[in-house]
Amino acid sequence: MSFALHGLAVSGGIAIGRAHLISHATLEVSHLLIAPRLVDKEVERFEMALQRVREEFAALKGRMQHASSEFGAFIDLHSMILADPELAETPKQLIRERRCNAEWALVQQMELLVDQFERIDDQYLRERSYDVRQVVERVIKELVGQPGRMALRTNKGFKEENLIVVAHDLSPADVIAYKDHHFAAFVTDVGGSTSHTAILARSLRIPAILGLIHARQLIRDKEVLIVDGTRGVLIVNPDQRVLEEYRLRKSQIELERTKLRRLKTARSATLDGIDIDLHANIELPGDIAGALDSGAEGVGLFRTEFLFLDRGDMPTEDEQFEAYRKVVKGMAGRPVTIRTFDLGYDKDLHPEKSLGGRVQNNPALGLRAIRLSLAEPKMFQTQLRAILRASKYGKIKLLIPMLSQAHEIDQTLAAVERAKASLRGERVVFDETIAIGAMIEIPAAALAVGLFLRRLSFLSIGTNDLIQYTLAIDRSDEQVSQLYDPLHPAVLMLLAHTIASAEKVNIPVSICGELAGDPSLTRLLLGMGLRQFSMHPAQILSVKQRIMQSNCAELAPLVRRMLRYEEPGKIREQLDKLNA
Ligand code: PEP
Ligand code: MG
Repeated sequence: MSFALHGLAVSGGIAIGRAHLISHATLEVSHLLIAPRLVDKEVERFEMALQRVREEFAALKGRMQHASSEFGAFIDLHSMILADPELAETPKQLIRERRCNAEWALVQQMELLVDQFERIDDQYLRERSYDVRQVVERVIKELVGQPGRMALRTNKGFKEENLIVVAHDLSPADVIAYKDHHFAAFVTDVGGSTSHTAILARSLRIPAILGLIHARQLIRDKEVLIVDGTRGVLIVNPDQRVLEEYRLRKSQIELERTKLRRLKTARSATLDGIDIDLHANIELPGDIAGALDSGAEGVGLFRTEFLFLDRGDMPTEDEQFEAYRKVVKGMAGRPVTIRTFDLGYDKDLHPEKSLGGRVQNNPALGLRAIRLSLAEPKMFQTQLRAILRASKYGKIKLLIPMLSQAHEIDQTLAAVERAKASLRGERVVFDETIAIGAMIEIPAAALAVGLFLRRLSFLSIGTNDLIQYTLAIDRSDEQVSQLYDPLHPAVLMLLAHTIASAEKVNIPVSICGELAGDPSLTRLLLGMGLRQFSMHPAQILSVKQRIMQSNCAELAPLVRRMLRYEEPGKIREQLDKLNA
């Protein structure tokens, strides 16, 4: 049966392929036959994984003193399940007798138990099968060695290029792993349009739709799918006529992309001769190839936290130094803006282990980004030293996320000074004049931007978070995504105020949030006075095309008038006029 689902269009283009269902780690474990001499080791591996999960539960429990008793009971139940010999002992027997790998042994045993639970009449007990699954999944993740990351499996008979990943949810750490794969597209049930999952989807340059609600439940493995990432439409089992139509649309999009490529070396300037800097946002050193290929004049945002997201511990100074140096050298003299770790919120570094964290009720408002860095001075010094050391190899700018208070800026500057002093003491060469700037992504920072302009040498507006915090809309929650409005008058006021204030004192300001890569907003931003944009490389040429067709002198008065409106209808009407 053919049907269509609608979700959030987060990465444009069209993909046609087969469904590749990704879900619980348990569905994707490999089935291996263990060599007799390795059986003991496999049992030991299983025991160690159990032990780590046991410790994790105990730590969670320890931190739960002030939390609800419900959560404590939940942890107790999971600890009990984990200790049950059916899960803790029988798999060892399976490993020894059938020589299965630990994951497979555990999943077999889980299926047996789940089956037993599901036959129970009592609803409460029947539902405990979910808890068994959850506990087993936790152990499997330990075994796979990538806590928090979803295991990938292969779909035999199909090349990755023809597969469309269908998942209930993907964390940023899951998606970053896809950079090493070549899937045609991906779709999920949950996630907002500026969530980090969505941002990574765009960076993979494959069509993606999030917030499809029930896709994972309704779609079967290997069914034919069409992903229209531009409109947010997913068609399951399309008929021949629809397939033909989409094949045609796909080739038209490819043709347009080929035409755009001619702009790669064109000067990025407006019709009235104003040069506009177009920089790239990157997550991994490997992304610089794409940045250069799209003609980026620099890296405007290197989200360093992605380098280390799925490893569960902090990278050493040398590891970080090598990563930063690689980017700077790869960009061959072009400026590289390195943002210090923006960990926390949806990008957790396995906090219960590495950072001594606690469960946060409101992680977006919690110990995130610079707040975490200042709370973990050792970790921060390690990163600052690594960045400073890499500054010897090119033009690095240091960007600090989530600053809002004057004393945080002062503390940060003092931390940089400490890192510099320690390097000087070791006679390590670095750029003494390295520029330090702030992300403006909290409304308080935009409103009191003077605090930043007096202390720092550049600004970069993070509109993804600025909108989230201004409108109180979780950027990763599809249920409120229709309220996430970049054109809300309050957002426009904050942007205009920040840009104009920086311009007045001659401090460079850029936008590195997703807004910068949306060609339908390019003229609005040019009219506000923005001259530096940083976006995912895939967007650079479309934005450049728009810049080359625009005239700043004409746009400025139109945008000034637009900023006087508060009514959404009026604002949109004015935007249409700008873009006409
Ligand atoms: C932003 O908030 O706009 C931004 C660029 O940072 P991130 O998306 O990584 O939070
Ligand atoms: Mg941000």
